[in-house]
Amino acid sequence: MKKSTNPCTRCGKERVFLREWVETVPSFLGDEVKVIHRENVCPDSECQKIVQAELDKQKKKRDELARNKDERLKNRKSNFALARKKKTLN
Ligand SMILES: [Zn+2]
Repeated sequence: MKKSTNPCTRCGKERVFLREWVETVPSFLGDEVKVIHRENVCPDSECQKIVQAELDKQKKKRDELARNKDERLKNRKSNFALARKKKTLN
């Protein structure tokens, strides 16, 4: 079996294993599922710092986008309800 590689996105060095932890999350069926997280980092600590900062930035952006999407969806729903109301009135 081929060993899976996980090179650093910045310098291309093979990442080294840092830690592993198990998170228990509720599943749709009402029971719990275990999710294994593995954290790998660049062997170059300076490079890793930069990569991590970049990841944090991206995450923030994603969270913001998700929030905006949520807001838009809510707005659309209320607009739709409003439009239906108007239609019935006419
Ligand atoms: Zn690196």
